[in-house]
Amino acid sequence: MLLQLCLCVCGAQPEADFFADRKKMVGEQLAAPGRDIRNQRVLDAMGTVPRHEFVPKTLSRYAYSDEPLPIGYGQTISQPFIVAFMTEQLDPRPTDRVLEIGTGSGYQAAVLSRLVAEVYTIEIIEPLARRAEADLKRLGYNNVKVRAGDGYKGWPDYAPFDAIIVTCAPDHIPQPLIEQLRDGGRMIIPVGALEDQQLYLLQKHGAKLEQKAVLPVRFVPMKRGS
Ligand code: SAH
Repeated sequence: MLLQLCLCVCGAQPEADFFADRKKMVGEQLAAPGRDIRNQRVLDAMGTVPRHEFVPKTLSRYAYSDEPLPIGYGQTISQPFIVAFMTEQLDPRPTDRVLEIGTGSGYQAAVLSRLVAEVYTIEIIEPLARRAEADLKRLGYNNVKVRAGDGYKGWPDYAPFDAIIVTCAPDHIPQPLIEQLRDGGRMIIPVGALEDQQLYLLQKHGAKLEQKAVLPVRFVPMKRGS
């Protein structure tokens, strides 16, 4: 009785509801016709990772809705479909070592961590990096390494990477990231100004970079550190 009262007052939702919301999200927002996410491993990861743990408590009831949400410091966690789409495009393999630029809440890193061997992720806003690091650790995502810093420069200590995912938008493809991608490796990256961004899928073939625009998007701009 007391517990129920508390749940009502706090507006907290039981885990079972989140589980049901998550299943619904996968069915209606990701696998549904028109959305067409087909990679079963990606759908399974999206159906498992507790997105509500990566959004502010006051917004947890919207955690599985079809939209981006604010996470503080003027930043957002991407819409679930965008996370699933980028992850599928990256074609993640169980042995891959992946670099992410723009940790934000840590949610995209958590999804990737279920699909690949190791995830390295960089966030330029230090308190966001620290919070994501703590959340990922608390939830048991032990194959993710978080660093606070300017992701434009990549993470040379751990290069080369099999895949790179960028979740903030630069106005050009950062040369250090191209250099840190292994030969044959894949990169998914939004490029351009806020009103005119495209998501590009790149594949490195020696000195050549094959590129294909795959979706118009709207990501926060990539900031440059000093
Ligand atoms: N992938 C995140 C959402 C990313 S929002 C998630 O799953 O929640 C984009 C993030 O990129 C923001 O947190 C922003 O601070 C960060 N960012 C912007 N410029 C950056 C840079 N140069 N290096 C690293 N992170 C950057």
